[in-house]
Amino acid sequence: MSIIVQKFGGTSVATPEKILVAAQRAVAAKRAGNQVVVVVSARGHKTDELIDLAHEISETPPAREMDMLLATGEQESVALMAMAVQKLGEQAISMTGAQIGIVTDSTHTKARIKAISTERLRHALEAGKIVIAAGFQGIDDQFNITTLGRGGSDTTAVALAAVLKAAVCEIYTDVEGVFTTDPRLVREARKIPRVSYDDILELASLGAGVMHSRSIEFAKKYSVPVLVRPAYSDGEGTLIAPHGDDEDVVTGAALAKAEVRVSLWDIPDRPGVMSLVFTKMAERKIPIDMVVQNVGSHGLANVSFTVEQDELAETLTAAQQAVDELGSGQVQHGTNLSKVSVVGTGMQTHTGVAAQMFSSLAKAGVNILMITTSDIKISVLVDRNQAQASLQAVHEGFDLHREQPALPPLGVSQPDDESDETERDREERARDVVSRLASMEDIVVSQVELDADQALVTLRGLADVPGVAAAVFSANAQAGVVVDMIVQNVSQSGHTNISFTVPRNDLEKSVAATRTAAVNWTGAEISFDREIAKLSVLGIGLRTHTGVGEKMFRALAEAGVNIKMISTGEVRISTVIDLPHGQAAYESLMKAFGLK
Ligand code: ADP
Ligand code: ASP
Ligand code: MG
Repeated sequence: MSIIVQKFGGTSVATPEKILVAAQRAVAAKRAGNQVVVVVSARGHKTDELIDLAHEISETPPAREMDMLLATGEQESVALMAMAVQKLGEQAISMTGAQIGIVTDSTHTKARIKAISTERLRHALEAGKIVIAAGFQGIDDQFNITTLGRGGSDTTAVALAAVLKAAVCEIYTDVEGVFTTDPRLVREARKIPRVSYDDILELASLGAGVMHSRSIEFAKKYSVPVLVRPAYSDGEGTLIAPHGDDEDVVTGAALAKAEVRVSLWDIPDRPGVMSLVFTKMAERKIPIDMVVQNVGSHGLANVSFTVEQDELAETLTAAQQAVDELGSGQVQHGTNLSKVSVVGTGMQTHTGVAAQMFSSLAKAGVNILMITTSDIKISVLVDRNQAQASLQAVHEGFDLHREQPALPPLGVSQPDDESDETERDREERARDVVSRLASMEDIVVSQVELDADQALVTLRGLADVPGVAAAVFSANAQAGVVVDMIVQNVSQSGHTNISFTVPRNDLEKSVAATRTAAVNWTGAEISFDREIAKLSVLGIGLRTHTGVGEKMFRALAEAGVNIKMISTGEVRISTVIDLPHGQAAYESLMKAFGLK
């Protein structure tokens, strides 16, 4: 008999009528011959109300008590759902996270799942009951109630589907499925029939609120097919599954509205700086993104990165500690910012994606404050009052409302022989790592990759006005150059820097094209570095598991490697380093992550 897990989000269980509609789905699945587990969230805005209530009592409510309070929202829902199922004539039993045996670590309000015991669940299922499980909550080994972070019921559902080896995990929500972007923000957004684990993992991590990004980590690690469907109709929804045959160049766009930038200005430029920054943030479990570093004057460096606004206070404290330990520098920050990103596995092999993105933004008059990219995504930081316009412009620019990728394949990169492992090899390796995990949500780093065939181009002293990045990358696209990593640092005194990597064989072509584009920007200086290497770690959930960056940069610091560029993502974290350090750095990472 197959097991089906169905999850209903807050809006889908907001009223008694909606609870009965949800219960009917569970009953139908049971009567179709399946064993059924239903995961429910707190009703409507219950969790928000509980948070507000806590803040009326205390400005800084203790995290343990916060979890005790928030978990009540889901407890209410499971009881009501079990009553509804029984009223419809099937047997049901409600269970809290603790009763199921969802054991987490003790990081209150963002706990990670260590293990799930399936005994009680299986017992109830064998007895013919529909099990109604509380989402979002667990218990630590000291019996404290914990919660998994906002939106965490998705993670409960997929984790249960993983341990029960369910045939499918159905996520019932208040939209038709996964869209090219949030349909509430961009009316033209289109529902996607199928999306790969990697693409939705990056999208969710970059702000697409439709799925909790950690739920996709479980789905990918344990190969759970996930179907995101409307709770209110029979819509077919979106299948989240491994890569299909033809990947869109750009799958979707996401907005992280409430971002802030934190900068460490005028710090010493030496190996170990990045390690210290990542360690300080990891100690507080703060995931950072859009990390850029550039060499300032007199041997001093500037490092900037973004975090969610809610994390600002803690981040500033941690950044100040880092500066104190370094012995020089200042902490600075920028608020009212938003991050707009596009994601697509197909962009790995297409030129012109960055150019298209920056041109769309330039046309909309948006000034790009920072840029970072990885192989499957491009992120820009913009002023929050331009966030909506930026998302709209990017969505339109890539014609995301239309079925086919409108971007003509301007050029297809040559796969490079050494690192051209097939998708299946990669999955095999990842499965091997997953099978050895001590704890379900442990870090999965399955591979280290060294690409010794790239070169670095840097433009300094660029005017900080809309259209600069568009001009530079359009010129490179027209020259047929596949640009890989791009970073643009936050401007200082009206000037900004852009650095990017290109295949070493295309360096001359790229420099010539960049020079032509840059003549329009008086004062800009081009330089290049032929001898660089790109070193990456690959895995699942890499950015949000703050321990990965910490370990990676510590290993590189210990090997005495200076970091020139960084890109952070959920499936890959990359750095650009000096070529002569490449092999030794590769080996130090293989060792740090216990890979052979
Ligand atoms: P639930 O309570 O069911 O978990 P959420 O509010 O967490 O629902 O997630 C559904 C919401 O996610 C939608 O109402 C939509 O506004 C938002 N959303 C953001 N990005 C996307 C996207 N790419 N596709 C679909 N919905 C999205
Ligand atoms: N009720 C929790 C929240 O609002 C968990 C969830 O809905 O997934 O964040
Ligand atoms: Mg949700």
